[in-house]
Amino acid sequence: MNDKFNEECAVIGVIGDAEAANYCYLGLYAMQHRGQEGAGIVSTDGHGMYAHRNMGLVSDVFNTESIARLPGTSAVGHTRYATFGTKDWQNLQPLVANFADNSFAIAHNGNLVNAPELRADLEKSGAIFSATSDTEVVLHLIARATTEDTIVKKVAAALGNVRGAYSLVTMTYNRLIAIRDPSGVRPLMLGKVKDGYIVASETCAFDLIGADFIREIEPGEILEITSDGQMNSSCLLQKADPAFCIFEFVYFSRPDSIIQGKNVYTVRRALGTELAKEHPAEADLVIPVPDSGTPSAIGYAHESGLPLELGLIRNHYVGRTFIEPKQTIRDFGVRVKLNANSDVFRDKRVVVVDDSIVRGTTCRKLVKMFRAAGAKEIHFRISSPPTTGSCYYGVDTPSRDELIAANHSVEEVKEYIGADSLGYLSVDGMYRAVKGAQSNYCDACFSGNYRLGTPVSTEMKTGNLHLNQPGKPSR
Ligand code: AMP
Repeated sequence: MNDKFNEECAVIGVIGDAEAANYCYLGLYAMQHRGQEGAGIVSTDGHGMYAHRNMGLVSDVFNTESIARLPGTSAVGHTRYATFGTKDWQNLQPLVANFADNSFAIAHNGNLVNAPELRADLEKSGAIFSATSDTEVVLHLIARATTEDTIVKKVAAALGNVRGAYSLVTMTYNRLIAIRDPSGVRPLMLGKVKDGYIVASETCAFDLIGADFIREIEPGEILEITSDGQMNSSCLLQKADPAFCIFEFVYFSRPDSIIQGKNVYTVRRALGTELAKEHPAEADLVIPVPDSGTPSAIGYAHESGLPLELGLIRNHYVGRTFIEPKQTIRDFGVRVKLNANSDVFRDKRVVVVDDSIVRGTTCRKLVKMFRAAGAKEIHFRISSPPTTGSCYYGVDTPSRDELIAANHSVEEVKEYIGADSLGYLSVDGMYRAVKGAQSNYCDACFSGNYRLGTPVSTEMKTGNLHLNQPGKPSR
């Protein structure tokens, strides 16, 4: 069972352009991979805020009519990956709150490590919560920063109390404020649209819209953009060492995005190159596990001199299998999503490349499929180190006891998945490919080094009711 409240998300915000809501919609569409459970956009025309949120894919949630009901020249948007199939629509974002003299919308990517404690304190002093998301905690903290005279100072005061990962896009009637936590765990990018500015989790959102990428929002930066185009950057948050999530490079971000000036595809290809150097194999072919293993498989094939073949065909109309709640459904999901192209495998020794092994379900299923398709030998290669730790900073990984590499040696994982050999990229190899120093990254899922700390309590209590399961009494 998943015992965490965690989310993978995309955030976006536009200010100063009559197409604000439309741009948010398109940007969310481009960033759908960051969260498929629900989506929302809130817009403002300077007098009121208008919201549309629902469960489902961006294309299901919005249509021409719903976007037309989001007027104004500013908007913020969010896609969300809720935990384990629960229909927790209460947690859909952006959240909106009305303060004394303004309204405030907020969209959050990341996870706050101390949200449950902050929430318990707020509840003791009378705060009422409508959902379980940690973002609502931030909203309350901002509302209570009454001694601060500007919204930026209120935001800074509120965030002074929180620990964890946050890339936030917030909006008032006349301002957009983009904030990145002091370690810069999650990405957040600034761009220029026709008449205004845009911020988004990934640059692939800018490409679809035709926005120009300006720069990354810096770790610890609070960037305020007014509706008349004034920009004001401040560093009011406490300084911290950088800890950008290495998994964004390994799996999470889209390969055509630019992060830290690096094209994600190029980095993944280099991960494959390093993998081939560390774990060569006597084989006939290299086969990618699409789409997550494709760039690294290309790098592996190039480095090893082995031909790359499309041995697995992906059905693009099936959602990711990862968050399905039951093992039986997950197994089914792998079969539905990926099918072996038998001709490629017959009597061949194959190297199969994927980006990571989580529970081992996918590889085990694939190995069986490849043997049935006639493969002579199967050499599994993984373009990241063994996943041994859960993420508390915004990537939805299962609890540690479900991570196969946390509890088994590489040899045991190899036996479990049924491959002839198994090789993971080393931590050093990963940083060679990223061309970065380990000290600048968070790699807790591979190293167990939780640089922003771990939660004391992982569960967000909601009085008598566990909101993720409406109607059920709390445990
Ligand atoms: P598993 O079958 O549990 O070992 O999952 C492995 C597959 O999940 C690999 O193909 C990965 O690309 C993919 N994967 C790894 N991390 C995540 C994640 N956080 N969300 C969705 N899929 C993931």
